[in-house]
Amino acid sequence: SLRAGIVGLPNVGKSTLFNAVVENGKAQAANFPFCTIEPNVGVVGVPDARLKVLSDLSKSQKVVPASIEFVDIAGLVKGASQGEGLGNKFLSNIREVDSILQVVRCFEDNDIVHVNGKVDPESDIDVINLELVFCDLDQIEKRLEKLKKSKTKDPQTKVKEEAEKSGLERIQKALLEGKPARSVEISDLERESIRQLCLLTMKPVIYVANVAESDLADPSSNPHVDKVAKVSAELDSGMVVISAQVEAELAELTVEERIEYLQSLGVNESGLGNLIRVTYDLLGLRTYFTTGEKLLSFSFLPSFLIWFIFSGMTAPQAAGVIHSDFEKGFIRAETVSYEDFAAAGSLAAAREKGLLRLEGKDYIVQEGDVMLFRFNI
Ligand code: GDP
Repeated sequence: SLRAGIVGLPNVGKSTLFNAVVENGKAQAANFPFCTIEPNVGVVGVPDARLKVLSDLSKSQKVVPASIEFVDIAGLVKGASQGEGLGNKFLSNIREVDSILQVVRCFEDNDIVHVNGKVDPESDIDVINLELVFCDLDQIEKRLEKLKKSKTKDPQTKVKEEAEKSGLERIQKALLEGKPARSVEISDLERESIRQLCLLTMKPVIYVANVAESDLADPSSNPHVDKVAKVSAELDSGMVVISAQVEAELAELTVEERIEYLQSLGVNESGLGNLIRVTYDLLGLRTYFTTGEKLLSFSFLPSFLIWFIFSGMTAPQAAGVIHSDFEKGFIRAETVSYEDFAAAGSLAAAREKGLLRLEGKDYIVQEGDVMLFRFNI
């Protein structure tokens, strides 16, 4: 499933936010039969109203929402790229996530030490960015060195290496000016050829402005929040305002109590819900549904499940999100749009009306598709 890494300087509220995520996940844990639970990973389901409609119509005994795994990547500090602290280990953890959430301290509290002496979001963002930039520069330099020595005679490899070289050189120039790799315009071929380097500054970033609970109703009254907004726009990034402390308290409450508490703070949605939505949008995700009927040996049938995919994925790739065997053994998929399914009332009715299409290996999965896979496993 999708992984988002939580980073930030010490004492900004990372652990508080991460613990809120873990508590939320514990409450929903039974819903995630596919997730591996590790100590530094918290899993939360993504709310989607369509899932309830689908499961009611099909009388599912269980619904499994799509989930995002939040990984606690504590310890990314100044000097990490030079191996300070446990720097290199943390940087390699970041390499494995799909997006980076940087918690930025925007709350004032004299009792809680700030590593740089004062609350200063721009400087906090700079410190972390520089570490990621240094790390990428180091990698690019090594790679360019290797490419220079390449003596390949194969014309196809040559074209690829040229593309990689030109892409990397432009990214290197941007990095030297402090700009992230994701802000550089590169061709599809260049992008493809540098993909295996997993550059850190290529990953989408969301800045999580951690404010005091009294700021939640009107975050713009906090000047630190404005600064985060400005920097995040400059760096091609997303942003959410959250109060980690409030999230930690919400995680302990019942659903009714949560609504009441949020209302008393003057907000409609929990920060975590907001964070999930922004992550989803920033990554350009699509959602499709599948029902348990054909999911072979899994024991939670009949059920409806929802999955995230990246836009442009083919039917076998989408099946592979559930399990890699499903991609290899893919034959075809009976497919109906969510709207047609909901209007018809059941799969059988949709099939009768001819709304169910048989799609093959090249089909690009669309937002809201309901898919029944046929496998050969
Ligand atoms: P980390 O080092 O980034 O993981 O930070 P922690 O989550 O451990 O938080 C550091 C301290 O700040 C803890 O004492 C938290 O209770 C406190 N803290 C976190 N968020 C807030 C907040 O929104 N307001 C205030 N006043 N304190 C907070």
